[in-house]
Formats: sequence, C-alpha cells, structure tokens
Amino acid sequence: MTAVLTADLGLDAASIEALRALLAGGGKRIVITTHHKPDADALGSSLGLARYLQKEGHQVQVVAPTDFPAFLDWMPGRSQVLQFDKSAQTRAEATRLATEADIIFCLDFNTLERINDFGPIVGASPAAKVNIDHHLLPQPFAQVVFSDTSAAATAELIYLVIAALGGRGQIDGPLADCLYAGIMTDTGSFRHGSTTARIHRVIAELIELGADNAKVHRLIYDTNSLNRVRFLGYCLAEKLVVLPEYKTAYFAISAEELKRFHIQTGDTEGIVNYALSLEGIVLGAIIIDRTEMVKMSFRSAAAFDVNTFARRYFEGGGHFNAAGGKSTDDLPRTIERFLQAVAAHGAELAALG
Ligand code: 5GP
Ligand code: MN
Repeated sequence: MTAVLTADLGLDAASIEALRALLAGGGKRIVITTHHKPDADALGSSLGLARYLQKEGHQVQVVAPTDFPAFLDWMPGRSQVLQFDKSAQTRAEATRLATEADIIFCLDFNTLERINDFGPIVGASPAAKVNIDHHLLPQPFAQVVFSDTSAAATAELIYLVIAALGGRGQIDGPLADCLYAGIMTDTGSFRHGSTTARIHRVIAELIELGADNAKVHRLIYDTNSLNRVRFLGYCLAEKLVVLPEYKTAYFAISAEELKRFHIQTGDTEGIVNYALSLEGIVLGAIIIDRTEMVKMSFRSAAAFDVNTFARRYFEGGGHFNAAGGKSTDDLPRTIERFLQAVAAHGAELAALG
C-alpha cells in the first residue's frame, strides 16, 4: 500500500514531538475522554485512538461522560467504554483512573465544560493532557494541543496523528472503521464545505487499510427504530416552522412529544438537517425540551455563522455552519428568545442566498 499523504501531514511538529515524548517507553496509563452525548466522531476518535495506543502497549480506558446513541453500539471496543455518569461506582472508577493516569486525551471538544462533571476531575488530575479537536475557539486546558478548525472531523486528526507517530502499520480494519465513521458523519457523508481534498486522501488510506465504508454507512444510517422514523415523519409533517422572511426554518419539540414517541439518545440527531434542506433556507434549528434543560442545534448554509450565534444567545458554540447551545428557560420562552435572536439578524439572513 502506498500512502498518498506524505511527509507534510499539516500537524505541528513540536506537538508531535511532545506527544512522542509523553508516550515514550510504552506502558503508560491513559484515559481517553470525549464530549457528553458522544457522536460518531467523538466515539470513533476515542475508540480508534484507544485501539492504536493499546497496540503500542499502553493501558487505555475510554471514559464517556454520558450515554450515547444505540446506532454506535457496533463500534469495535464499545463494550469497554466506561460511562462516567452511570452510577456512583462508575464515577468513582473514572475519577480514580483520571487521577492516576499519566496522560489524558481530550478528543472532539474544546472546553472542559463539554464533559460535564468529569471536567473538574480531569482539570485537577496531575496527568499530562492532550487535546485533539476541530472546534472553534479552543480553551487552553491541555499541555499538548492539536487544534485544527479546518479539519472536518477529529477522526481526521486522529488519523494524521497516528500517521505522524509512524503508526500507520497499526491501523487495522476495526480501527479504520471507527475513524471512517467519524469522518463520514461530521462531513455529512462528504457533502459539507469542510470536505477537503486532504480528507478524501485520508479516506482513501482508511479504505486501503481495511475500512468497510458501505458497512459503516449501513450501521449508522440504516439501523433506525420504527419509532425514530415515525417521529421524523411527525416532525416533518407537524413541527416544521418556516420563516421565509428570515430564510429560517426550525423544529421545537416538547418533553411530552419525546415521551410519546419513546425517543432515546440519538433519535433526534439529523432532524435539523431537514430544516436546512428546504430551498432558500440558510438557518435551520431544532429546539428540544430535555427537561433538565432546553437543548438546541443550529445548522447554516452560506455565510451565516452559527458558532457565534450559539455563543452569543445560547451559551453554546461549535463550528461555523454547525453549532449547539442550551437554555434553562422553559420551551416557550426559549422559542421566543430564539425568534428574537433570529429577528436581530433578520437583515443579515434575508441578504444571504
Ligand atoms: P449538535 O447540534 O450536532 O449537537 O452539535 C453541533 C456542533 O456543535 C458539534 O460540533 C458540537 O460539539 C457543538 N455543540 C453542540 N452543543 C454545544 C454546546 O452546548 N456548547 C458548545 N460549546 N458546543 C456545542
Ligand atoms: Mn467532531
């Protein structure tokens, strides 16, 4: 197999050397963690990196702050993931592992708040922290940082880091599947503007190394429960609100509706894209009453910056065209605030095409 990505992998040489030094000698106690409610990029990056580091002789534990969607259950190594918030016992175990670790990898997030109550524990641990991420405006909490906001997925960066460490030979089919899944989902199946030539080269190498692309696609997109598909139909038929004057469309879902359709973690993922799929719409949103808080997802086309929008109005963030936020107001009040925020950007939105 000839690698098509050659010497210049676009990673900071000093960070690679710092990481190489941290890993030197093998046998390190390593914790890998990622953002709460991990998606395919978060979990695929974590399990892919874990598999590489295990092959290199390190002791590795993946800690997820919360549960994650069932459509990720197929991921190799998934059964070894420790869910921090599952019980007092898992909290204690994750705390012990993080406190005793030599290295903690923080993947696919840019501030410790994204890992909920595990954040202060990671922050206080004497372990060296390594942050590998592609979100905008990273906070400085790690000693070694690979932050590339032009990367479409953290999994892309994981591949490049493994390659830069000379580890391509350790990438087998299951590892390649994990990284493929992260890249496939974060690029919207290779259709977002973030889908660069470099990412296609990475994908080409992952397929050569054994990623089963058709299988991964099926496992992620064609394993819906009937509930989920019926809920999508309900949202499209009954819940989609279009504001043509602001080129905006959104869904607002109540806690009662989530209950009525037996919605599980991950079941609402992707619905927001249908708002943006409408011709002439440049801002799509989904606002969901998760009881403990109202969660929101924003997607934009063209030049509307939802990262800034989410930060300014809803304590959130993310990427230029895909971001999220939250609100502790109730659903009606949150919708009202969303509509005010949209109106405040009305002229800007109306001018986009
Ligand atoms: P999603 O809408 O799919 O949950 O998230 C879209 C993007 O925004 C992801 O990259 C995610 O990490 C980020 N994101 C979602 N919610 C939040 C949030 O509350 N705070 C921050 N900083 N980022 C978020
Ligand atoms: Mn990501």
